[in-house]
Amino acid sequence: MQRRRFLQHSLTAVGAVALNAQTHAAPAKPGVLKLGSQEGRLPGGSLKEKVANLEKWGGCGLELGGDPSGRIAEVKEAIQGTGVKVSALCWGSCNGDLVSMDPAKRKAGIEAIRKALDTAGALESTGVIFVPCFHKQSELSPAELDKILWEILPAIGDHAKKAGSRVLLEPLNKGETFYLNRLDQAAAICRKLNHPGICLMGDFYHMGLEEKTDAAAFTAAAPWLHHVHLASRVRNLPGQDKLQQPDKPERSFVDGFRALHQIGYQDYCSLECGCAKDTDPMLAVPAAFEYLRGQWAEAIKPA
Ligand code: MG
Repeated sequence: MQRRRFLQHSLTAVGAVALNAQTHAAPAKPGVLKLGSQEGRLPGGSLKEKVANLEKWGGCGLELGGDPSGRIAEVKEAIQGTGVKVSALCWGSCNGDLVSMDPAKRKAGIEAIRKALDTAGALESTGVIFVPCFHKQSELSPAELDKILWEILPAIGDHAKKAGSRVLLEPLNKGETFYLNRLDQAAAICRKLNHPGICLMGDFYHMGLEEKTDAAAFTAAAPWLHHVHLASRVRNLPGQDKLQQPDKPERSFVDGFRALHQIGYQDYCSLECGCAKDTDPMLAVPAAFEYLRGQWAEAIKPA
């Protein structure tokens, strides 16, 4: 090998190692935009109708609330023969029970998330969204909460793997929780535990309030990022900000989408938002998808 080529090769190798050290693995392929929605945001008289609308508008990820353990057959039937799959289960905090100092409450909380993980596995969902606690659900300090999570999450992660799913920690803005406000904080927990069953997600609404930039947040969280929530700045459908605040700019997704493309993101981006007053979801949801596809196209266009 010529020296120059060798040097190039070596530098590439060093670069790859550096990237691996930072993100665990260089992306095998560029990221994709797989749009989806929470069930409640989709118009339709039945789950089947909602799924049909989602597919008609180019979406492919159905996000369900809570633990739909009693609906597995209904959900499977609704998506059967369509291009729609179940994305995440939006499970929440279980009243902060998993981080409670009351052993009985903690035990019950852990049992509940194990059950939700079983449901997520049965539905081939990407994971169970978990918020350790909202405001007023814990008196503990963030350092104390960290310790509890380090203690309980490895076994929950083992259960998640066995069930074929994963836990997705969701950071929220400071108006909703004093604990885990940014993706790097959730990433620190994932990094410490280093468990394939313990991952995280990002929500553009909260990120707009808490992160310096969407791109930096997604990049820092890349090795563990397996779900994304979409909402406008005022938490309506993407592209609807100006209907409510005509003098303020529309929430841009370009910076975040560019990072998702670069890190090789392969999971879903799912609507979790309201619908602006006097707009019809039958028109507004497909319009939001159109807006998001435009933002993605702008994000990935060569400089
Ligand atoms: Mg969210």
